[in-house]
Amino acid sequence: MSWSFRIARVFGIELRVHATFLLLLLWIGGSQAIHGGLANALGGVLIVLLVFGCVVLHELGHALAARRFGIRTPDITLLPIGGVAHLERIPENPREELVVAAAGPAVSAVLSALFWSASGFSTLRWDRQGEGDSWGIASPNSLMTYLTSINLGLVLFNLLPAFPMDGGRILRACLSFRMGRPEATRLAAKIGQVLAVGLGVAGLMLPAPVLVLIAFFVYFGAANEAASSELLTASRGLRVRDAMITSFGHLSPLCKLGDAAGLLQHSSQHDIPLCADTGEFFGLLTRSSLILGLQQSGPDAPALSYAKTDLPAVIPELLFSEAFQLMQQHQTPTLPVIDQKKRLVGLFSQEKVGELLLLESAKKAHH
Ligand SMILES: [Zn+2]
Repeated sequence: MSWSFRIARVFGIELRVHATFLLLLLWIGGSQAIHGGLANALGGVLIVLLVFGCVVLHELGHALAARRFGIRTPDITLLPIGGVAHLERIPENPREELVVAAAGPAVSAVLSALFWSASGFSTLRWDRQGEGDSWGIASPNSLMTYLTSINLGLVLFNLLPAFPMDGGRILRACLSFRMGRPEATRLAAKIGQVLAVGLGVAGLMLPAPVLVLIAFFVYFGAANEAASSELLTASRGLRVRDAMITSFGHLSPLCKLGDAAGLLQHSSQHDIPLCADTGEFFGLLTRSSLILGLQQSGPDAPALSYAKTDLPAVIPELLFSEAFQLMQQHQTPTLPVIDQKKRLVGLFSQEKVGELLLLESAKKAHH
């Protein structure tokens, strides 16, 4: 993740903090200093650090459980909204997914119990008295009580049976014991979305804006997970050559925007590759940049000056998933496909991929 800094390494896992997290520390320290001086500022920063220490332990729970199944976790990143353990892959075996997803909340539950016993089992106060005004530590006892409720909150929030929360993964794993993984994902996502709508309505009626925010987060998280898992399932084992367009018009790198407009008028193509007679690829002129070019500079402007010339070329043997990643990184709907002699042999486009996946899932449904 960009904008994050490495601060430590534990169990071979890089611990990173996002720049915005440092801003959060500064903001809390600063606002506390204004309210109550240096002691409050230090107290506020210390509490935030302790809370995020608990979050790190939660994420380490996931990472170490995943390691038992041979899945590496290159890094854990701390964001102001919480932590993210970037697992190399999500385990597909339901039992493994269940263990990995449950490990985080289990750690938080243990921490909560430990802090509660350290507080002398004092009653948890859920009132908001004093919150936001003073973060100074009244007594070690109240700090322990606070950390108890934070960890309890982490358990409850993460056990919401909705993606991207741990509870969503636990639910999917449990459903996967009885049905296929794609069906389990779809059903888990549906349950999560129903829950999100319920949360949203409750949030509006109470009113509790935080609940509405969580509801949005959950609703789109569920839709996202369902879509990307469907894509992964459908495209497993497919390679670029399975969906690349091999019959397409191309133009010389020396042509003008007017020539490109003429070509688009008489074909169903959206993007025009510019390549030399030898097949060497120079750049890709997309429909949107062609339109922009015509507006800005007219039909006599050189096409190459509006073409994307820094696109990575892919080979036909590349896996779909890797080609998708490149598309996202470079924010392009189309990638050029080249052979070993670096000649352009095809175009890999999102549109074509969508068509192929529809065909594939139709074939699977028939079986
Ligand atoms: Zn978790």
